[in-house]
Amino acid sequence: MKIILLGPPGAGKGTQAKLISEKFSIPHISTGDIFRKNISEKTPLGIEAKTYMDNGKLVPDEVTIGIVKDRLMEDDCKNGFLLDGFPRTVKQAEALDSFLNDNEQKIDTALLIDVPKEFILERMTGRRVCSKCGASYHIKFNPSKIEGKCDACDGALIQRKDDTEATVKERLDVYDRQTQPLIQYYKDQDILSAVEGTGEITKVFDKICNVLGAVGK
Ligand code: ADP
Ligand code: ADP
Ligand code: ZN
Repeated sequence: MKIILLGPPGAGKGTQAKLISEKFSIPHISTGDIFRKNISEKTPLGIEAKTYMDNGKLVPDEVTIGIVKDRLMEDDCKNGFLLDGFPRTVKQAEALDSFLNDNEQKIDTALLIDVPKEFILERMTGRRVCSKCGASYHIKFNPSKIEGKCDACDGALIQRKDDTEATVKERLDVYDRQTQPLIQYYKDQDILSAVEGTGEITKVFDKICNVLGAVGK
């Protein structure tokens, strides 16, 4: 299955992506995780991406599109993939379509995780992420078993530099202006599906499985 996850920052894309990727045995491709890995390794890409990310802006399309194409060419993507955080602009969506077209592939569904704005600030400021594997936790809604340590890999949990109130507001603005139009873009292609992203994580996942079950038929 080839899936795109859409939704505002803090909607729960990363959290659900981990569960979907395990259940359907498809690689979870998060552009945010790729950039963060490059930042921690101080690669030229990381150095370029950092200033945009720290300010809540998007990394330029040319850079981002190239990275995703390279990743989609890897062997493990042959039978499907889950894109989390890409595309984020119409230009990225068009580039993805033309890349998949050239490779005789297509997206099965663009799944929107819909969460009202009033939930987002608390989710983002309470978010803690694993510095090793990228897993997302929340101090109140989804705490790790041992404080400050990842359940999955024992890595240290940290707060992202861009999860402060001011940057979150900027990211929500960027979402409205640049990413939200993708909802219509995929509606027009007749491949948009949606779930309400409020309620418990396991309940949201159940709803996603129902939607994906219907898409897979
Ligand atoms: P995204 O990748 O869309 O930015 P995350 O998956 O990182 O979102 O989730 C953002 C924050 O909200 C994290 O702290 C996560 O633990 C928490 N979260 C995710 N899903 C839920 C949910 N259904 N209810 C409450 N908190 C959630
Ligand atoms: P969130 O979990 O809040 O949705 P991500 O981890 O997906 O955030 O992204 C963090 C930051 O990485 C974004 O604010 C942006 O600066 C950069 N980024 C990630 N994906 C993209 C993309 N597709 N295009 C441009 N910038 C991106
Ligand atoms: Zn971890």
